[in-house]
Amino acid sequence: MEPLRGGCLTNNIPPDVQATWDKATVKRSPTEWALRFLWDQKEVNVVLSGMSTIEQVVENIRIADEGKANSLTSEEINLIQEAKDTYIERIHVSCTRCNYCMPCPNGVDIPANLNLLNDLYIYQNMEKPSGSYRFLKAKEVDASACDDCGECEEKCTQDIPIRKYLKEVVETFEKG
Ligand code: SF4
Ligand code: SF4
Repeated sequence: MEPLRGGCLTNNIPPDVQATWDKATVKRSPTEWALRFLWDQKEVNVVLSGMSTIEQVVENIRIADEGKANSLTSEEINLIQEAKDTYIERIHVSCTRCNYCMPCPNGVDIPANLNLLNDLYIYQNMEKPSGSYRFLKAKEVDASACDDCGECEEKCTQDIPIRKYLKEVVETFEKG
């Protein structure tokens, strides 16, 4: 499920990632690279990708038809690894989403809020994390409910300065 990470792997591609795709001998769209990576895995039988236009349906069927297991060349696999490395280098908060810091006495969904920053830094696109922040806000589990008590930081397995990042979340998605 979510093979394109809600569109993050296909829309507003960062220039350094696009530069990687441009090096490929066979030119493919970012959508095709993401789906071909999955079809290349022999364990994968089904790829559930959300589609909203008939063109996307036609494209996905073609890719599913062409994307056989172990069909990518070693050059292509190296390019996918390069794009992956570029995305991973941009991780902003080393939260593993282990949930050990939870529950927060004020109801903040800590890992979900920290993940918004990673989505923003990794994909360099405000659209998806902004929408997710509004969703957290509607559920009243957004970072603005933090009262700085520090309880969560004592429990964090990664020694993350959670309060600092939650303030960044508020600054970014409420005032930015
Ligand atoms: S510092 Fe903020 S997020 Fe952490 S437990 Fe306290 S209120 Fe919750
Ligand atoms: S304990 Fe730390 S690493 Fe685990 S979810 Fe909470 S913030 Fe993330």
